[in-house]
Amino acid sequence: MKVLKFGGTSVANAENITKVINIAKSEAQKQRIAVVVSAFGGITDQLLKAGELATQKDLSYVDTFEAIKARHIEACKLLLPKKKSELVILKVKDELKTLYDLLQGIYLINEFSDKTKDKILSYGELLSSYIISEALKESETSSTLKDSRTLIITDANHTQANVKVETTNKNIKDYFDESDEKITLLPGFVSKSDTNDTTTLGRGGSDYTAALIAAAVDASILEIWTDVSGMFTANPKLVRQAFPIEEISYQEAMELSHFGAKVLYPPTVQPTLQKKIPIYIKNTFEPEAEGTLISKNPKSKNGPVKGISHVENIALLTLEGNGMVGVPGFSKRLFSVLSLNQINVVLITQASSEHSICVGVFSDDAKKAKQVVDEEFAYEISLKKIKPLLVEGDLAIIAVVGDNMKNHQGISGRMFRALGQNNVNVRAIAQGASERNISAVIAHKDIKKALVSLHNIFFEKQIKTLNLFIVGLGNVGGILLKQIKKQQAHLREHLLLNIRVVGISNSKKMVFNTQGIDLRDWKSQIDTGTDRTHESFFETVKSLNLSNSIFIDITANEEVANTYTNYFEESISVIACNKIACSSSYSAYKTLKELSKKYGASFLFETNVGAGLPVINTLNNLINSGDEVTSIQAVLSGSLNFIFNNFNHNNSFHDIVKQAQEEGYTEPDPRIDLSGVDVARKILILARESGFKIDLNDIENKSFLPEESIKADSVSDFYDTLKTKALHFEGLYASADQNNCQLKYVAEFNNGKAKVGLREVDKDHPFYNLKGKDNIVLFYTNRYPEQPLIIKGAGAGAEVTASGLFADIITLGKN
Ligand code: ADP
Ligand code: ASP
Ligand code: MG
Repeated sequence: MKVLKFGGTSVANAENITKVINIAKSEAQKQRIAVVVSAFGGITDQLLKAGELATQKDLSYVDTFEAIKARHIEACKLLLPKKKSELVILKVKDELKTLYDLLQGIYLINEFSDKTKDKILSYGELLSSYIISEALKESETSSTLKDSRTLIITDANHTQANVKVETTNKNIKDYFDESDEKITLLPGFVSKSDTNDTTTLGRGGSDYTAALIAAAVDASILEIWTDVSGMFTANPKLVRQAFPIEEISYQEAMELSHFGAKVLYPPTVQPTLQKKIPIYIKNTFEPEAEGTLISKNPKSKNGPVKGISHVENIALLTLEGNGMVGVPGFSKRLFSVLSLNQINVVLITQASSEHSICVGVFSDDAKKAKQVVDEEFAYEISLKKIKPLLVEGDLAIIAVVGDNMKNHQGISGRMFRALGQNNVNVRAIAQGASERNISAVIAHKDIKKALVSLHNIFFEKQIKTLNLFIVGLGNVGGILLKQIKKQQAHLREHLLLNIRVVGISNSKKMVFNTQGIDLRDWKSQIDTGTDRTHESFFETVKSLNLSNSIFIDITANEEVANTYTNYFEESISVIACNKIACSSSYSAYKTLKELSKKYGASFLFETNVGAGLPVINTLNNLINSGDEVTSIQAVLSGSLNFIFNNFNHNNSFHDIVKQAQEEGYTEPDPRIDLSGVDVARKILILARESGFKIDLNDIENKSFLPEESIKADSVSDFYDTLKTKALHFEGLYASADQNNCQLKYVAEFNNGKAKVGLREVDKDHPFYNLKGKDNIVLFYTNRYPEQPLIIKGAGAGAEVTASGLFADIITLGKN
């Protein structure tokens, strides 16, 4: 014999019930079956709601009742032929009348005891099983309906009744021994106390009903039919990458369900385990999918971790005090008082100092726990031997489960590293003695992030997702998005990196999409985005709380640079194209570096010097491997290079600067380039990255501009001075030409001192042949004392700058 249980979604409406009937009929052709059904999806919640509204003297309980009624009548109409449905509806209405009277009673006396609650809740399963049995009879299959309350006997612990196993077993066995019906349909969840009152087996308890029947009749298989294709590696509603576990042991299934994998009600496993009856979790809506097999000796294809689950609404109780050390009996008293008051302990940890015990309980029990524990220890508290019970709420437990974890080292290390890297604060840790489970108490808000990052490291070793938040959508930003879009598939396949742009913002609007912004039409999305401020952008990134988040600044804005600290404090890495942060005061630069270290977030700014050229990365590699920089000589301004490479006898300095601006080689305000400030900032960053404490004022900057140009108030005044002072610039060129030299704007760093300025370089100098907008950097170090390490190439332009940012993103992906 086989037992099949269909959950709430599987019987939610006539269409689904038809699927259930088809599955049952096809199974019944092979063997006798028992079919256990839940209430129509959502009905149990509605019954509970109606009862609660009635106790609160809220007349809208009648509306809820009417909605319940309509659902059942509608199902009858759709499932049964007209004549038959009229008869069935009459009976259903009759039952509902009693339910209505009960609700009215609750309304009048203002009381909703657990005993009444069970009575009310039982209507869900009693009605669904009745309607489904009538529909089953219609399809010419021999079947009968049996009220589980006549078989399953419990104590009087209403809403969470404990089954009297022996009597129940005997009742079920005797009943099925006598019957030869092909299909026996039974309501799940409901039972009866030995005092003849209706009881229920706890929310989700229909699974347990089915397991009790399977065990009593020695069924060959128990099948739990639900709305997902098996027990997944994590709740599929929260972790998109989760997948069904093919096979799993009874103990693993029990641990996962105990820690929140709702797909199986935890007590279900016990009866089947004793009889070694395999359990299959199957999907009513995808019957051909394999599902999950729960058995004694599962085949294991995957790693030691089988699944990750979580329990919400947890409060942590901490009992602590010096008076506890070395004194036996405190934990015993704590657990006795909790158990006496029916407070379920979900997790326990005790520090080896014995100075404190920490237990996790459901939030609903926290208030009562506080009261009874403080009463129990009132004497010790008055003597200050222990402190009043400390209660922390808004927590959740996350558990990593697997039979084989005990044979593998380092699982907890990986678990807590992943949580730490994603800034998930762990409040308490417990490892079961069987080492089948490691659980951690975390903040409720971190559940999704924790699940996703743990799933990522234990089940998706291959693919790492980076969540990007990009501010600045000008030339460079736009090209970066284009490059990302083009490379996404390649990176996924070859570097196992999933690059997802989750947030973008220009100076006015912002757009977020946790599934990844569609990069084909980001422009139209940003036009219709929401208004933004630097704070609101940060607050959104923070509230999304995604693992591997990276903030990318492609602005030249000081206010944006000022927000980096916020990101670091959330362990979010920062990639900056913006030079302001690294070239502001030394102390600010140092603080950012330290914050990034403290919070385990990276801070990369390769494009600050030489656009896409690997200047900073190379320098970091030298320093990290123990080299020391003695001198740096560099041409670091693509714009000044362009200008001095093109300026000659045949044109004017004014026109060349204008052209450079028009072609996008200078900042919108060309004075920033021509004054040398931009170059000074770059050599400053290189000096700092070489390990020197240096500020912008320490850099000698002898300008080649005439006094008038330096003093010009506006960009147009500045251009005017380039005309009026044409002779000055012609003089600079003529002198260099006469000496067979080229004019180059050079940055130098020697013995801790830096300077920038225009120099005439002769043809033997490595800078002499520098073309177009190229940059060049010479590093003289202990390892490269005479022949410097040279990096040369295009040092300006949107394409190369964007690719420098992209390189930083990939570097983070490989970390
Ligand atoms: P039913 O009504 O069929 O009894 P439940 O709602 O009780 O169904 O259980 C199925 C649901 O359990 C799934 O829809 C899913 O949201 C949730 N769930 C939580 N954790 C897991 C998991 N690890 N694997 C599968 N489902 C899970
Ligand atoms: N209908 C009950 C509930 O929703 C029992 C079950 O579906 O398993 O909790
Ligand atoms: Mg269920």
